[in-house]
Parts: sequence; structure tokens; C-alpha cells
Amino acid sequence: MAVTEITAKSILRKFNKADSWFVARYSMNLYRGCLHNCSYCDGRAEKYNVQGEFGKDVAVKINALDLLEKELDPAKKRKPVKKGFVLFGGGVGDSYQSVEKRYELTRGALVLMERFNRPVHVLTKSTLVERDIDLLEKINKKSKALISMSFSSMDNQISAQFEPGVADPLTRLDLLKQIKKKSGIAIGVFLMPVIPYISDTPEVLNETLSRCREAEVDFVIFSGMTLKPGRQEEYFYSSLENSYPELINEYKCLYANAGKWGYTSEAYYHKINHLFESLADHHGIPKRIPIQHWKPVTDESDRVVIILEQLDYLLKLKRETSPYGYGAYSLSQLKQPIREYQGSFTRLKGIGPVTERLIREILNTGSCKYYDKMMG
Ligand code: SF4
Repeated sequence: MAVTEITAKSILRKFNKADSWFVARYSMNLYRGCLHNCSYCDGRAEKYNVQGEFGKDVAVKINALDLLEKELDPAKKRKPVKKGFVLFGGGVGDSYQSVEKRYELTRGALVLMERFNRPVHVLTKSTLVERDIDLLEKINKKSKALISMSFSSMDNQISAQFEPGVADPLTRLDLLKQIKKKSGIAIGVFLMPVIPYISDTPEVLNETLSRCREAEVDFVIFSGMTLKPGRQEEYFYSSLENSYPELINEYKCLYANAGKWGYTSEAYYHKINHLFESLADHHGIPKRIPIQHWKPVTDESDRVVIILEQLDYLLKLKRETSPYGYGAYSLSQLKQPIREYQGSFTRLKGIGPVTERLIREILNTGSCKYYDKMMG
């Protein structure tokens, strides 16, 4: 294992539009590379340009806290930081991987978030997050926190094979449950990715969602697995060779037209999403992050975009056509607050009278009845 200290030029990465999966406006990576070494990790893909041997080497942004303080401090910024969650994780390295015990950059960043009243969404696979519950509780009271963990299933054997660097899933899920019980912080599961033919079967997926319901998670976000050609694909196949060699040919068919993004076939995509939808509905689990967890800390224009995108997702999950996705994108590109375009929404690309009605309702009431119904 090699730990390299590097200096970064900036820390907060602003999304170019409100993100409806993580409901975040910013994200950050304090570490590049990840010692958890999940065999499907797409952080390995060449496009992310992570140096060294992925899973063994990690770069530490040694000046991260100084930079972050400047980026968050309104007195030092010409342009204020926008409202909305800052996502810890979800990039090319877990914020709570083992080097965090030594460098404490994540803890230091949370101290700054608390000081500057920023809402935080932590997404991790590590039980080390428990160390910082004191801070996350304070943040939750002042400005809101969400804590999510990612899983490929709740099966300990599957996890030991594909996620060798983290605690078993039932231990991690139980920790989430205890966190919610003690602190009241909302908790989520990112079922991301499910592993084809291994953790996507009806039996395994049903068990996973049943465990999520028992743990009273507030939402489950689902996604299949991408396999980008190059390092990610090679590493994953070498791991599969050891444990499920009989699946190699099936994977080659499934990813035959993967392209540079590593997509599965469309038929498979629809099949697993349909299965997820029916099981999540059966267990009564929200499939997007419910509005009550993000509405108070989200800018009004972002709220409109997130609601329309979430509706788009939910309709497509049902294989129904959706007029909302394109409209949400058009709105997200506006330079001024959405409210200032009242009366001319239908002049924007992708927005017809139905979407316009919803936008008005969201602006007037903070949500819309159709969205509430779709979220269940
Ligand atoms: S925890 Fe996340 S970033 Fe780290 S190896 Fe696993 S999937 Fe990749």
C-alpha cells in the first residue's frame, strides 16, 4: 500500500445542475483511490485518471481543509456557495476508508460544514462513519444531514467476495439503523450496483429489500452495474474468474455492446429495474429521496428540477413515457431563478402545458399532488 500526499487546487465540485439521485449541489473527494477495493468499482476506469494501483494506493489531498475553509467562508468568496447538500463520497474514494483514521480530513471537513451551516449527505461503505456521529447530529439539527451506505446485496458471502475491504452488509445496515434510532438522522441505502446474475435475482433482491424495510431505511436508490472497457472490466473479470467462472460467458453477452460507459443490454436494464420497482413497492420503500428530507435546505429552482427529475425516473421505471426529463434539464440551465420565467415556461424546450401546470403548483405550494402520489 502506498499513501501519497498531494495538493489540490480546489475541493468543492459544483454539479452543473441540481442532482436528483443524491439531492446534492456539491460533492467532494478528499482522497483519490480507495482501499476498500470493491471488485466492481468504476473508480478504476481510465477516465477518472486515478494514479497508482487502485485498491492498494491512495492519494491524500493534504491541503483540503485549508482550501475548503476558503471555499465555504462567505467573507472570502466573491460568489456565495449555493444552497443544497454537499455530498461526501460517491466518487473515486470512500471518505471513511482506513487512511481517514490517520488524516481525519473527513472529520475536519464536517467541522467546517457545521461551522458554515452546510447540509451534508454522507455516502460511505464504512462503519468508521460512527466516529463522527456527534458532528453529524449537530449538523442535522442546524442544517440537515443524511447518512447513506452503499451495498450490492445484504448477503455476507457475496459481499466478502466483491467488497473485501468493508464490514459485512448486515453489520453495516444495523449500524445505520442504530444511527437513526439514536440521532434521528435520515438513513438511506444505495443499492448500487447490483451484480448481474448474483445480487439481482428475485430471491436475493427480495431479501435485500426486506432487510432494508426491517432497518426502517428512509429510501433505497437502485442501479445496475456498469463495466467500462479497460481496467475496470479486466479487474472485475479476474475476480469473477475466481468465484463464478461459469458466468463469464453470460457477462460477455450482457456487456457485448457496453460502449465506453459500460452499459448492459437494454432488455436486462428494464428487467432488473422492473423487478426492483415491484419489490420496493411491495415493501413500501421510497425509490427516490423523499422531499421532506431535502426541501428545507434546497433552493426553490433546484426543488422544481429535482421533483421533475424524480417524476421522470418513477415514470420510466414503470415504462411509461415521461414529459418531465427534458423540461427539467431546460429549467436547470436557466441563469435566473425559475420563478422569474412565470408566464413563459412553455417557450422553453421540453415544457408543455402539463409540465407548466406542475411547475406552477410546485412554486406555489412547495410540492405537487402528482409527485406526492407517485412517491407513495
Ligand atoms: S467503497 Fe466505493 S469508491 Fe471504494 S472501492 Fe468500493 S465502490 Fe469504489
